[in-house]
Amino acid sequence: MDSEIKIVNAIYKDGGDYMIECPHCGEWMIVEGDDTEEIRGEQYVHTDCDDARGWLEVADTARYAGRVAAE
Ligand SMILES: [Zn+2]
Repeated sequence: MDSEIKIVNAIYKDGGDYMIECPHCGEWMIVEGDDTEEIRGEQYVHTDCDDARGWLEVADTARYAGRVAAE
């Protein structure tokens, strides 16, 4: 089990939602926020994570990496 807070360096968008890739399990998760500035520096927990303590922090310097590619 890896319960440390992991840093996220990229923010994506899917429709109207901002998305990040969980650094613990690699799944997509939606993050609340009106724009990337609001999301940078915030801490979130991925509740669907295998690691129930899936804490992560979006880096202050995280880049906006564009739209999530359609599946
Ligand atoms: Zn996760």
